[in-house]
Amino acid sequence: MDIWDPQKESMKRDEIEQLQLERLQATLNRVYKNVRHYKTSFSDIDFMPEDLQSLTDFNKLPFTTRQDLRDDYPYGMFAVTLREVVRLHAPSLGFEKPVVLGFTKNDLNCWVELMARCLSGVGVTKDDVVQISMPTWKILNTFGIQRGAELIGASVLPVSIKNLPNQVKIMRDFRTTILVTTPGFAMGLINAISSSGIDMITLSLKQGIIGSEAWSENTRNLIEKNLHITATDIYSLTEIFGPGVAWECHEKNGLHISEDHFLPEIIDPVTLEPLPPGAEGELVITTLTKEAFPLVRFRTGDLTSLNYTPCGCGRTHARISRISKRTDDVFVMNATCVIPDQINMIITKLNNGKEPVFQLQAERKKDRDTLTVIIEVTDTMFFDEIKKQLLIVDDIQLAISEFLGWNVHVKFVEQGSIDRKKQVLDNRSL
Ligand SMILES: [Zn+2]
Repeated sequence: MDIWDPQKESMKRDEIEQLQLERLQATLNRVYKNVRHYKTSFSDIDFMPEDLQSLTDFNKLPFTTRQDLRDDYPYGMFAVTLREVVRLHAPSLGFEKPVVLGFTKNDLNCWVELMARCLSGVGVTKDDVVQISMPTWKILNTFGIQRGAELIGASVLPVSIKNLPNQVKIMRDFRTTILVTTPGFAMGLINAISSSGIDMITLSLKQGIIGSEAWSENTRNLIEKNLHITATDIYSLTEIFGPGVAWECHEKNGLHISEDHFLPEIIDPVTLEPLPPGAEGELVITTLTKEAFPLVRFRTGDLTSLNYTPCGCGRTHARISRISKRTDDVFVMNATCVIPDQINMIITKLNNGKEPVFQLQAERKKDRDTLTVIIEVTDTMFFDEIKKQLLIVDDIQLAISEFLGWNVHVKFVEQGSIDRKKQVLDNRSL
């Protein structure tokens, strides 16, 4: 496979680090000057941007959380004036204060370039028909994929997921060669093709770029075997672009993170200490080229590890292992997008404003998906008396069920019994 930007994607390690240091210094200067949140958080630790002399100095800077992004709703985290912003994204409009991202023209151009790297890296050329099949709540992801594919010169076909048989018909009639979608949809498509009576061999499909949800090697094997394609992973992060941050090459041994645009770190999510390459922990990302919405040490909530060894594909950018667990990300159940942060808000409201420690456990029994919300009871939370506990279980159960539109179960457990690294335990086997 061709490398889209060989000069940038195959830099030597010392060249990458030098470029990262220069871009990091520029980013820190910009956010200190233009974003109140960063000016305050840097001042709190007596840090001035010029204090940064090496990448190791960077460890002392405070993290940025999703809550920080919400607190500065709508434009408080922007490092440019609104006149310079040409695109706004608000991926979670259901929140009272959603995260709002801004993009300058340069930001959008970077996104397009990064998507072109990813798509060409898995073999997309101007001869391909790229079908982008995304659920409506992932619609923002399609913009970057679409423009990246167009930059390569491919024919792009964005289709919202509604009716699987229609998707199959489009795939056959338009001679789709590349499918960009979620693992759940790819699995649904297998059944739809099988019920349509269409012989898979008559389709032109050759490659699947699959992402937006965590998926396993087992699911990859099923998709590849049944759709007769090669399936590669793509990592999306809505607070940065959506897709385009990291993606898997044909070596299928980790996802390349574009280190000329992002500085990745792995930390222990409990102690917040940095972890060495190879150790699994929470991915923290600093943007190095974003103009409108730069992020410094942003805690993604995604658990992965970093591998700096050069890849067999010829690229030198570090690889993250496939995201097996997302500590605070969304998942789809009963055709509804379940967002742990929204569940958190409901429980917090019913708990006099105190945030709970909780876990969402998804199961599939007899083709039915069920969700159990496990909540830790602490000394300062909820009520001591069992009777009152039962009442609040009912209240929480009702509030979450009404919110989602289907019944959930709520269970209280003792303090310390929930694994804090896993906010979502999705035990449904695809
Ligand atoms: Zn590679």
